[in-house]
Amino acid sequence: MPSARKNNGSKVLSGLPLGGHRLIRPILFYPDKRLRNPGKEVEEFNAELHQLIDDMAETMYSAPGVGLAAPQLGLSMRLFIVDVATEENEPSDLRVFINPEIIEAEGDTTFNEGCLSFPGIREEVDRAERIKVRALDRDGKPFELEVDGLLAIVIQHENDHLDGKLMIDHLSVLRRRLVHRAMTKRVAVDAAQ
Ligand SMILES: [Zn+2]
Repeated sequence: MPSARKNNGSKVLSGLPLGGHRLIRPILFYPDKRLRNPGKEVEEFNAELHQLIDDMAETMYSAPGVGLAAPQLGLSMRLFIVDVATEENEPSDLRVFINPEIIEAEGDTTFNEGCLSFPGIREEVDRAERIKVRALDRDGKPFELEVDGLLAIVIQHENDHLDGKLMIDHLSVLRRRLVHRAMTKRVAVDAAQ
C-alpha cells in the first residue's frame, strides 16, 4: 500500500541494517498478469533472501508506501514487508512476514486503500478489524501477532497479494470496471511515452 506521507528520504536510512547495497526494484502495475501469480513458500533463509528483503524495504520507502509484497516485483514468493510508521520523525518499524497465515479474523472495518501497483487510485475496501497472523521472520523464526488498526489492514492487503488477489477484487462490479479502465488507460499512456 502507498503512504499518504511524502518521502523525504530520511526513512530510507533509519532503522535498516547498515552496509550492503540496496536496490530500488521496479514495481509491477495492474493489469500486469504476473500480479495474479500466487507466491510459493519460501524455503531458504539465506543471504540472497536478506538482500531481497533489503531491496524491498528500499523500494517501499522510496515509493513511498506502507507495504510491499514480493509478487508486486514479479517474484512468486510468500513474502511481504510492512512499515506503518508514517509520521515525520517517527522511527521506522519495518516488519517482515514470510509464509504468513491469517489464523484469526474478526470484526469489520472499511479503509480508503491504495496500492503501489495501482498508482493514483484509492478505494474503500472492507476488511476484518482484528487479525491474528502467524509467519516466519527473515531468519525463518516463527512468530505470531495479534493486531488491529492500520497494521491489520495493511497485513490483510499484502497477504492478498501472495494469493494473486488485488484490492480491485474487493470492489463492486461498477467500481472494478472504473478502476480497470483508469489503470489500462494509464498503462497505455506510460507505454506511449
Ligand atoms: Zn497492494
